[in-house]
Amino acid sequence: MAEIKLQNLVKKYGDGFPAVNDVSLDIADGEFVILVGPSGSGKSTLLRMVVGLEDISEGELLIDGERTNEKAPRDRGLAMVFQNYALYPHLTVFENIAFPLRLGKKKVAESEIKRKVEEAASLLELGEHLQRKPANLSGGQRQRVAMGRAIVRDAKAFLFDEPLSNLDAKLRGQMRTEISRMQRRLATTTLYVTHDQTEAMTLGDKVAVLKRGVLQQYASPQELYEQP
Ligand code: ADP
Ligand code: ADP
Repeated sequence: MAEIKLQNLVKKYGDGFPAVNDVSLDIADGEFVILVGPSGSGKSTLLRMVVGLEDISEGELLIDGERTNEKAPRDRGLAMVFQNYALYPHLTVFENIAFPLRLGKKKVAESEIKRKVEEAASLLELGEHLQRKPANLSGGQRQRVAMGRAIVRDAKAFLFDEPLSNLDAKLRGQMRTEISRMQRRLATTTLYVTHDQTEAMTLGDKVAVLKRGVLQQYASPQELYEQP
């Protein structure tokens, strides 16, 4: 669980107009925040600055009160869930979820790996599918495997970059339900980028609207809906 504070964040690529321009956001512990805006408005750049894939030009990034601007991505305790799930087709569900634990700098005991993977799988209702390969799973199950990978790392927060944008409308609807369900269970701080209005209005506790790098609004979906 983590509290994420963005204070006057700026990202400049070269001399042009900043891609992210003086954005401040307070994300409370356990909150689900949707970042929405037209293509090119700086959503991806903002997310990448939080994860550490992009340098911060100006401003402060605080995670649980600690300045994080210069921390290496792997030391930030965050987990990014990608658009295409990035699962390994030749590995079982168990091995896909266990993967980050086997990659780490310090070796994790096999019994510990088993315990963590089974715990995550049970939480995500994947317990029966641990020996399957990704090709034999539904889209929703694959998304849950990707979440499982984030969970076993004890991530403080999840970051999603347009996770549903490649799916057809029907599957997108199912996945929205899946993601809401997981969020209610896990209550992990989440920052979720989309340009889909329905996702923005149904998934999050709060919606941050970006336009040309500038934060236009930061409010609950209800408050946005009721605005004139
Ligand atoms: P969004 O995710 O909202 O579509 P991006 O964060 O991808 O927006 O892009 C914001 C702006 O920054 C755009 O004008 C884009 O062209 C520019 N931009 C993004 N990445 C780079 C980069 N690596 N180098 C230069 N400009 C970039
Ligand atoms: P996304 O939907 O992820 O924002 P983009 O096509 O905007 O996809 O960007 C894909 C990659 O290209 C990203 O890594 C982004 O940082 C980079 N990029 C985007 N715009 C520019 C740009 N104007 N110059 C250089 N790199 C860019």
